[in-house]
Amino acid sequence: MAKRDYYDVLGVAKGADAATIKKAYRAKAKELHPDRNSDNPNAEAQFKEANEAYEVLKDENKKAAYDRYGHAAFENGMGGGGGPRGQQGDFASAFSDVFDDLFGDFMGGQRGGRRSGAQRGNDLRYNLRINLEDAYSGMQKTITVPTSVGCDACNGTGAEGGSEPQTCPTCNGMGKVRAQQGFFTVERTCPTCSGMGQTIKNPCKTCHGAGRVEKERSLSVNIPAGVETGTRIRLAGEGEAGMRGGPTGDLYIFIEVNSHALFERESTNLFCRVPVSMATAALGGEIEVPTIDGGRSRMKVPEGSQSGRQMRLRSKGMPALRGGGSGDMFIELAVETPVKLTSRQRELLKEFDKLSEENNPQGSSFFKSVKSFWDSMKS
Ligand SMILES: [Zn+2]
Ligand SMILES: [Zn+2]
Repeated sequence: MAKRDYYDVLGVAKGADAATIKKAYRAKAKELHPDRNSDNPNAEAQFKEANEAYEVLKDENKKAAYDRYGHAAFENGMGGGGGPRGQQGDFASAFSDVFDDLFGDFMGGQRGGRRSGAQRGNDLRYNLRINLEDAYSGMQKTITVPTSVGCDACNGTGAEGGSEPQTCPTCNGMGKVRAQQGFFTVERTCPTCSGMGQTIKNPCKTCHGAGRVEKERSLSVNIPAGVETGTRIRLAGEGEAGMRGGPTGDLYIFIEVNSHALFERESTNLFCRVPVSMATAALGGEIEVPTIDGGRSRMKVPEGSQSGRQMRLRSKGMPALRGGGSGDMFIELAVETPVKLTSRQRELLKEFDKLSEENNPQGSSFFKSVKSFWDSMKS
């Protein structure tokens, strides 16, 4: 069978440039992947053919020789070095070569990072307890975060004195090694470089080759008004430094708001129990209530207010975290029974009680209900 033209095999024009050839080959490799071709007996042969074509066309010198002499360039030793034939191997190992070349693109570029030994730093979590007042106003808070930062001594490379890290000879920088099991290739983390893809001959003495060092870092954090327990603030790029120049992780601040002596919070609303004297509750009057901003508001207590009565102060609650105004504050009246009476007060209260009975002989509606309950039990 006559050998097909390499350009035809890849489906590109004669003399196509390197990028076009690579793109065409990649498409072929995907198309002929064994996972998709279990029912295509020709896939293996086609793939080998494409692989052979690519081995030649991706190489400047071989490509030039092929353009000039055609297939004859690699026969009878003309091309030298055995040419592509020596590299045909079996289908599975040929495929793993393709993956070496293409994985970076298949996997969205992840491999690219691997090859340089770079790894993204970890995200960090920092728990921050704040007071309700601070949650109300928002605040600037300086926190100290134990983290690791890029090593200055080696510029984050992990190698001593400007020497370059070497591509790991075991895995050729992939960070993984392959073992063949029949048709399939299994991958494991490279034992030589622990998956870094690089080995360092003279590790940096400061960071022992990690490219980063442990350090406490001070950070000024902006806590927006309206945060509550469970609010998470993300500080992009403030986490742990990456390994060997990899990107930095993020820092997450988890907010916990302390409970308050006066105010209870429910979302953006605040609740506060305010004691009020028996006389004020009965006669009506004004009271002063504390507000979360540290100020005070005057409120009218209507005549005849009972204990437990709720009143609302609009917009005196917590600000909404994502804008849109503030909640309200609810005041619950707690009528206080007077204690430690003087004899004069005692005298007045007794007189008051007597007058109350004369004024309202039936008593309150509660007492009326109790009386009719007892009456019904008797009959
Ligand atoms: Zn270092
Ligand atoms: Zn390795």
